[in-house]
Amino acid sequence: MKQKLIVGNWKMNGSLAANQALVQGVLAGMQGLNVRAAVCAPAAYLASLQVLLQGQTALSSGAQDLSMHESGAFTGEIAAAMLREFATRYVIVGHSERRQYHGEQDAHVALKAQQALSAGITPIVCVGETLAERQAGRTEEVVKRQLAAVIHTNGHCISEIVVAYEPVWAIGTGLTASPQEAQQVHQVLRQQLKAATPQADRVAIVYGGSMNAANALSLLQQPDIDGGLIGGASLKVSDFLAIMAAASQCAQAS
Ligand code: PEP
Repeated sequence: MKQKLIVGNWKMNGSLAANQALVQGVLAGMQGLNVRAAVCAPAAYLASLQVLLQGQTALSSGAQDLSMHESGAFTGEIAAAMLREFATRYVIVGHSERRQYHGEQDAHVALKAQQALSAGITPIVCVGETLAERQAGRTEEVVKRQLAAVIHTNGHCISEIVVAYEPVWAIGTGLTASPQEAQQVHQVLRQQLKAATPQADRVAIVYGGSMNAANALSLLQQPDIDGGLIGGASLKVSDFLAIMAAASQCAQAS
């Protein structure tokens, strides 16, 4: 029975009050579900999230980014060790919005993953092609290049990461890769991980890009789709719970 991993990415949304209602609703509704789950909050809310999640293990806390440096004169940046102090279990690295709006490149993403791993935090490494790259038939080349940088820098620790395949054209657009399209890319990523570590099967490869209550089950039923990274639908208790319920159903069936 393989548990799926469902991670919410709140992006730059929320407030103290809204987060509390969301987390309490999710915790209440996920009882009895067979799923691993986390929510990645804006850094400003990690301390309050730690309090909201205290004393339970069903839902973990995650961050959306971290510094590629350990400490020092990097104004505005947040170090892995700082995240660790707030019981942060996961951190997203290389999200396409960071690559697109903040100029993050493969080498930066690899160093961020390294910082996370050295602090005992699981990096959720995002890879994915743009629409132009897909249309040019370059999807595999792009995602393999992005993951290769992280493998190269992190060597034997690579089995400790989570990979998120997030086609850029599917993020926040309502467009989703079909289950077959997503599975095909996940399979390529799995092969790449297998060539890098004998423990590749330990690595969760999750799908992200407009996953919602309606399409979650068909995506999560694919053999190499180990979970989901959910943006918009993670902000609504009922939608997020419906995705978790689909994940739980897949775990029971396997
Ligand atoms: C994301 O931000 O990682 C994401 C997948 O967003 P959405 O689900 O809204 O497409």
